Amino acid sequence: MAKHEFQTEINQLLQLMIHSLYSNKEIFVRELVSNASDALDKLKFLTLTDENYKNITFDPRVDLILNEDEKTLTIKDTGIGMSEEELGLHLGTIAKSGTKSFLENMSGDNKKDSQLIGQFGVGFYASFMVANKVEVTSRKAGEDKAYMWSSDGDGTYDITEANADTHGTSIKLYLKDEEIEFAKEHTIETIISKYSNHIPFAIYLAKQVAIEPTEEEKKEQEENKDKEDKKEIETKYETKIEQINKASALWTIDKKIIKEDEYKDFYKTLSHDSEDPLAWIHTKAEGKQEYTTLFYIPSKAPMDLFRVDYEPSVKLYVNRVFITDDEKELLPVYLRFIKGIIDSSDLPLNVSREILQDNVNLRRIKSASVKKILSELTKMAKKDKEKYASFYKEFGKVLKEGLYNDYENKNKILDLIRFKSTNDNNLSNLADYKEKMQEDQKEIYFILGENEQLLRNSPLLEKFKSKNYNVLILDEDIDGIVFPMVSEYKDIKIVNVTDAKFEGEDNKEDNEKLQKDNETLINDFKNILGEDVKDVKASARLTDSPAVIVADIDDPNFAMMQMMKQMGQGMDTPEPKPIFEINPDHDLVKKFTDSRDQNLKEDIAKTLFDQAKLFNGQTLEDQASFIKRMQNIMTKAL
Ligand code: ADP
Ligand code: MG
Repeated sequence: MAKHEFQTEINQLLQLMIHSLYSNKEIFVRELVSNASDALDKLKFLTLTDENYKNITFDPRVDLILNEDEKTLTIKDTGIGMSEEELGLHLGTIAKSGTKSFLENMSGDNKKDSQLIGQFGVGFYASFMVANKVEVTSRKAGEDKAYMWSSDGDGTYDITEANADTHGTSIKLYLKDEEIEFAKEHTIETIISKYSNHIPFAIYLAKQVAIEPTEEEKKEQEENKDKEDKKEIETKYETKIEQINKASALWTIDKKIIKEDEYKDFYKTLSHDSEDPLAWIHTKAEGKQEYTTLFYIPSKAPMDLFRVDYEPSVKLYVNRVFITDDEKELLPVYLRFIKGIIDSSDLPLNVSREILQDNVNLRRIKSASVKKILSELTKMAKKDKEKYASFYKEFGKVLKEGLYNDYENKNKILDLIRFKSTNDNNLSNLADYKEKMQEDQKEIYFILGENEQLLRNSPLLEKFKSKNYNVLILDEDIDGIVFPMVSEYKDIKIVNVTDAKFEGEDNKEDNEKLQKDNETLINDFKNILGEDVKDVKASARLTDSPAVIVADIDDPNFAMMQMMKQMGQGMDTPEPKPIFEINPDHDLVKKFTDSRDQNLKEDIAKTLFDQAKLFNGQTLEDQASFIKRMQNIMTKAL
């Protein structure tokens, strides 16, 4: 007998799971049944597509066998099975990179952690929450030998040869004393109907049913009723095997007869989410192209939504035969929060990934699905603002990605985006913005940065405030990438405030005159700031503030640089230097011009520059000098 060690992460995982999920232990049933269903799906597919499997008798089923005396629960399937190697590989290591982040993300909050379990594919190990010993007997379809994997969940497992009358996997849990309820019919039936009602295979429960006493026995009982030394007649039981789930692929059923709860339950089976979905979209297309889709929008965003290795959650079926669930291209990436099913009648069964991506039918389904999802969201935004707000809070950021990678639907997506803005405390959309534009306003304006508070108070907004122009506040990291690409909304230009030109100001002569009139001032600043700036200009956009920094029109702005760095780009490109704009009409600047104290002027120029940087959301490289200069200035002011 060979003893094997678990990968270290598994021990960690087991410990965490046992301690943090104790109030939601029942999910182990869901995990094991969903593994059985996956195994049946895999074999079903092979029997339909692979010559080598054509002769296999495929009688797909899941059997649950309870034994209260022995304190065991067995979950048996007739699926693909596992070879000796696979037993060690799948049940001894955690292959997926996501699992590490599962460990990092364990929050100690049971509800959240249990949702994570399915998400990161660590389902099998949930068995050890209720069992102190687990035996997995498996025979791979097409092979003769069976093997048994067994473990006490203590860091090691064994694999030995075993017997199995058919291909498939049988998982026997030796329940801990306090978990005996999981060997009870009632408990198991309730759990199955909650989580696994609509897996497309039958689940059978071997039940112990009391046998009606015969007429004779009844008579005997009756006669003995009043006797002192009556013999208790034992109730006799027989085993009855009963199907306990519906086993109907829900999406194939007529919409009109599906109940709300059935949709919700199916979502839970599909997603391993314990919360209800926010909404679902069930579509049956008939005619030239036949397909069914059932899409769900979850209520909460999963942890891994922004990880590169996120797992897509749309499953592809061809006439109810499961094809794949790891095809990232079924829906565009910006709709990756959607969970659900696409079932097509017009695809060949044995589609390879390459064919899948090039398939015209699938492309049409995909494109129609995207339109459908967007239009349902649009409806929701109109009819149920509260629901839409809760959707947007969770998934708005992902949806924004569509603005730069779904050109075809850009306008629809743009209408779904919600914005903070200077004139509105609530989020609003561009249609509202357009509606409330000032009469003389020709463009839609936005300000870009990281900190909402700083943005709201930015000197760059002064002119806009004075004209009562609303300005969109874009403070999400993705905004810096997306919005420079969105140039207009319904023929109205969308413009960064740093690039905005007001009437009269785009006049070249006026501007040249402004620069010329302030030449000495500009030169003073240039001499003091030197290499730190690209240029110094007199500003026409400021009213209340003495100065501001802006990026040169061709340079990426600060927020964008930050974003690029976060994505690991532009690491070695030097940061572009800013343009420093000063307000010649500001009192401070006027006094600066008049002052003869060269030291003071230097401290003031540098401090103004640092303050403008702070307003821009930047941190100062040399904070000590900043403080020192402030103190110098204060001393002189007193
Ligand atoms: P996941 O299902 O997300 O892959 P699990 O921990 O639930 O993670 O299962 C790990 C792996 O073990 C599965 O991917 C599968 O390869 C294998 N496995 C588990 N249960 C079965 C089963 N009943 N039949 C065949 N393979 C199984
Ligand atoms: Mg699983």
